[in-house]
Amino acid sequence: MPPMRNALQVLQDVFGYAAFRPPQQEIIDTVVSGGDALVLMPTGGGKSLCYQIPALVRRGCAIVVSPLIALMQDQVDALRQLGVRASFLNSTLSVPAQRAVENALRGGELDLLYVAPERLFQVQTNALLHQAEIALFAIDEAHCVSQWGHDFRADYLQLERLHREFPDIPRIALTATADQRTRAEIVSRLDLGEARHFIAGFDRPNIRYRIGLKQNAQAQLLRFLRDEHPRDAGIVYCLSRRKTEDVARWLCDHGYNALAYHAGMDAAARAANQSRFLREDGVIVVATIAFGMGIDKPDVRFVAHLDLPKTIESYYQETGRAGRDGLPADAWLVYGLQDVIKLRQMLQDSQGNEEHKRAEQQRLNAMLGLCEITSCRRHALLHYFGEDSPARCGNCDACLEPVDTWDGTEAARMALSAALRTGQRFGVNYLIGVLRGDAEGERIARLGHDKLPTFGIGAHLDANAWRSVFRQLVARGYLRVDMEDYGAVKLEEKSRALLRGEEHIDLRREEKQKAATRRKSSPAATGVAGEDQALWEALRECRRALAAEQGVPPYVIFHDATLREMCAARPLDLDAFGQISGVGARKRDKYAEAFMRVIRDHS
Ligand code: ADP
Ligand code: ZN
Repeated sequence: MPPMRNALQVLQDVFGYAAFRPPQQEIIDTVVSGGDALVLMPTGGGKSLCYQIPALVRRGCAIVVSPLIALMQDQVDALRQLGVRASFLNSTLSVPAQRAVENALRGGELDLLYVAPERLFQVQTNALLHQAEIALFAIDEAHCVSQWGHDFRADYLQLERLHREFPDIPRIALTATADQRTRAEIVSRLDLGEARHFIAGFDRPNIRYRIGLKQNAQAQLLRFLRDEHPRDAGIVYCLSRRKTEDVARWLCDHGYNALAYHAGMDAAARAANQSRFLREDGVIVVATIAFGMGIDKPDVRFVAHLDLPKTIESYYQETGRAGRDGLPADAWLVYGLQDVIKLRQMLQDSQGNEEHKRAEQQRLNAMLGLCEITSCRRHALLHYFGEDSPARCGNCDACLEPVDTWDGTEAARMALSAALRTGQRFGVNYLIGVLRGDAEGERIARLGHDKLPTFGIGAHLDANAWRSVFRQLVARGYLRVDMEDYGAVKLEEKSRALLRGEEHIDLRREEKQKAATRRKSSPAATGVAGEDQALWEALRECRRALAAEQGVPPYVIFHDATLREMCAARPLDLDAFGQISGVGARKRDKYAEAFMRVIRDHS
């Protein structure tokens, strides 16, 4: 039997990383010494190592339960690249291939085995597990056990049996979902009462958060892509299936490599698009929220939202798919009054009891609050998840380009009284007509609203400024737009104090928005300076060729972060090459020659 390796050695030799990130070491120590662990870490935090290293340190094979069948092949390929003996068992395997994996497990020839949850308790697999030597059970995407969350999988409920059937084998449950209630449900349903909890900070400092005002969403997106991500991989989220297809087609017309993805597509087309996103460089997926769980592509450089997410939880989860490799990435969202109206309406119409609807409305209000705040976005996000952070992060639109506010008390009162005096029966555009004294509006005259004291009192603001006032009043809960009543604007209880002059309100000034949603930086985004560009491209080409040869995604060979370091350090001998972060012993021996040749050619 080989001597037990130490965790740090494994990190350095196998994975090629110099040091653990803060909670990793403790988690690994806990599991290595036989304890259970519940791990909450943001996407990109480094959860996989928390079970992969114990798998290599402890005797036997680690069983990794994961719902992400489509990704198992890539995960296994990535581990094999490191020289780790990994396999998977799921419904995509032929019977002989399955037998081979089972024999390997019985024979003690595996370090890690990925298994789909529905398979674990099938009679045959269950018997197999009892015959094999098992190092640990890792339960990935553990929030799938929660019926309260978004990704519930009935198969996950069975995992509760693990503790009873294998009482001496440590279990580690991992998730990126921060929610308290989900966490409690994981503990109880997986019988993890004795597990140590590891809750890492949820900050993703490399992601730059920007939320702008929607004017012409597609044109804004195009400008964002041209200025900042001309050749990067990214995800664009939309609310409807139809829109994903329209936007994808439109991006293709503008020269981008864009693909649609939504639940209405057939499974084969969906899988094909996902696979192209993972394997090709610079693909943009335009998707509904059906796309995303388990997309562990490390080099997604941006996540753009063309429609407002319903909750901060989903916004954070979706934007969290950007920049898993730790390099700079963008979370970019545009929204407007229409989004607010549409989402409020969708919630109103949704199934479920009143209590549930109220809770959803509150979550939407929190999301709207995030959009409208004038202070640091990151601070607000982290605060929402119960985490302290500095008041200013320096890497969000509010910090980089402070938002102007203006005293909107007077304007807000005008808007409220225009709605009130016209009987709360009219939509925003009509009310703006009244406020601006739009004499052209014959309907206004016909209804006698040109005689109202509010008629024309708001002529000092243009229609866009008024739209902004209305949006902010709706977003902040002073007004609501009643779609049952043809979009009529109605007053909420909260508006009383404002109307009576007992409350004061500051509003965002929108003029600055355009500047705030812009950043010049495409090459800098990956951290490659001008003179290194040619080498960077050549290294990427080398990676692309090697990946194609082996039929794996390029990032399985090396991550961008590793190529970037190569670009800067330009190693020309094996030792120096092995020093690069992300180059373990196996990859050094396998790839040093090819990449050093490229570097030599560019020196
Ligand atoms: P998660 O599963 O939490 O989303 P991953 O396990 O995929 O995150 O890790 C995210 C990225 O960070 C990967 O590229 C991984 O190789 C890298 N990583 C993890 N731990 C370390 C470390 N200690 N040092 C350097 N890179 C790390
Ligand atoms: Zn900030």
